[in-house]
Amino acid sequence: MWKSCRHCGHAVVSRPRGLCWTCYYAPGVKDLYPPQGQGNGVKDITGHRPMPPWPTEALPGSPAKVEVLCQRASQRWNLWHPKDAR
Ligand SMILES: [Zn+2]
Repeated sequence: MWKSCRHCGHAVVSRPRGLCWTCYYAPGVKDLYPPQGQGNGVKDITGHRPMPPWPTEALPGSPAKVEVLCQRASQRWNLWHPKDAR
């Protein structure tokens, strides 16, 4: 199972912080995505959530999509994925 990069959203994550190689080494990009699991965890509530590991083909407003959103919420994933069906 692979995850897509938090920054560009389409490259496979190959570096820490959920970034792809290109974004991780691009100037300033990794500063936008502080490492997780250290410091205070309070920001996690409203901060960045990891991108879901896979997109959904369920159309917006469909019961299947609602199901997917519930699952993502329970996994603390971002509710939106750049490759979701529209
Ligand atoms: Zn990237």
